[in-house]
Amino acid sequence: MSTLPLPLPWDQIDTVLLDMDGTLLDLKFDNWFWMQHVPAMYGLKHGLTPDQASEQLAPRFAARQGQLAWYCIDHWSQELSLDIRQLKHAQREQIGWLEGAADFLERLKHTGKQRWLVTNAHPDAYGLKNDQLGLAAHFNAVYSTHPLGVPKENPAFWPRLMQVAPFDPARTLLVDDSLPVLRAAQAFGVRWLRCICRPDSRHPPREPGEFVGIHSVAELL
Ligand SMILES: [Mg+2]
Repeated sequence: MSTLPLPLPWDQIDTVLLDMDGTLLDLKFDNWFWMQHVPAMYGLKHGLTPDQASEQLAPRFAARQGQLAWYCIDHWSQELSLDIRQLKHAQREQIGWLEGAADFLERLKHTGKQRWLVTNAHPDAYGLKNDQLGLAAHFNAVYSTHPLGVPKENPAFWPRLMQVAPFDPARTLLVDDSLPVLRAAQAFGVRWLRCICRPDSRHPPREPGEFVGIHSVAELL
């Protein structure tokens, strides 16, 4: 992959919206948790091998992709009869920053920009990650999409966020690892967009679609 990150015109940006999982935090935790750990625990409960469990769960997960339920701890706890909160808590040591992200947030603080975390994570999943890494200290505001009823990839999300927390899309930067999210934000008018190409440190970089790709938020400043 060859992406030349264009330098951002920081004088034209007042508000920085940052995604959490796959943008600041290494998605390897969530990928491992949902693709390996949850199927293994589900299999244990229902007398299935991990492979059989994965096979059963894959279409159920896929059916919810792009919906808020996909990100909802309560939904999956009920759906799978597993205590997802407790399972996540037990594995919390594995939650970690992507390379350069904590340092970037420290530097961003000194730019005087509005720094908002905008995440599809359930408030409790955010809470666990915040307890581990102290995310909140880096932001002026933290928004989970759950109280707003739709995830970031749904076009209805952006006007709802605007109602709760007004910002000027023409002077806003969004950094996210999800192409559907970036597309919805672009359609709403968010002017500056950057796609994280390597959300999971265990996997090779991905193509950033029609967006400017960066390997890490560290490249932004
Ligand atoms: Mg993400």
